[in-house]
Amino acid sequence: MKIALTFDVERDIPNFLDTDFGIKIGLIKILKLLEKHQIKATFFCTGNVVKQQRWVVPLIETKEHEIACHSLNHERLNKLSFEECKQNISNNKKLIENECRNSKIIGFRAPYLKPPSFLYRLLNDLGFKYDSSISSHKKSDSYYLKDYNIQEFHPINNYFLFRLPIGFSFIKKWVFKKELSILYFHSWEAIDIKRLILNQNNKLNLFKEYFFRIDRWVNTGDLFIARISKFINEAISKKAEFVTLKQLVIDNNIKSY
Ligand SMILES: [Zn+2]
Repeated sequence: MKIALTFDVERDIPNFLDTDFGIKIGLIKILKLLEKHQIKATFFCTGNVVKQQRWVVPLIETKEHEIACHSLNHERLNKLSFEECKQNISNNKKLIENECRNSKIIGFRAPYLKPPSFLYRLLNDLGFKYDSSISSHKKSDSYYLKDYNIQEFHPINNYFLFRLPIGFSFIKKWVFKKELSILYFHSWEAIDIKRLILNQNNKLNLFKEYFFRIDRWVNTGDLFIARISKFINEAISKKAEFVTLKQLVIDNNIKSY
């Protein structure tokens, strides 16, 4: 049983809060947790975070985790043309590579898990080796697209369920039966989003987020960190192997799970 923990490193709830506590506080908590368990993970970083917080890439790299791309400013890439999209992802990759000492960037995830239809062609053009943007799947958790030389890893779009007690039990049962699972989280889940929402000046936004987007704030912060820690302990007791997506590509380039 292999498990890949993946974290999108972006500003806090893009297009809503747009603060950076998830980077300055949340990311640090996540890195500490992974270090405690001696586990490596994959971090999909946006270009704006890498540019604004120049310590982010070197720190993730020093801890020997994988760094991958997540667009420039968390745009809806499926609304952009091929050339606009290519420029966007190419700039994201360059910004990360400029901050890296020796990591080769081979992975990509589209914001909101909404990739454009031409994504694989574009990723191939830019030298990527895998994508992890498509959450809906029927059979395989991963497959190789020969025409584009790209491996697809389906993330389980479960981040809200994972933070709920019933959802957590359900996900564990499911994951512990599978050969490969790619879990999908965000750096901002490691901070108390509820408190940030309640501090909003815009009362209409506050109302909408509090009552209609419970998925964004419930059990975030230390509860989220405790839950991941519990998950890791249980997975290790079941002999799970934690991997980065890059490592899977290197080990099994044309394997389907
Ligand atoms: Zn994202």
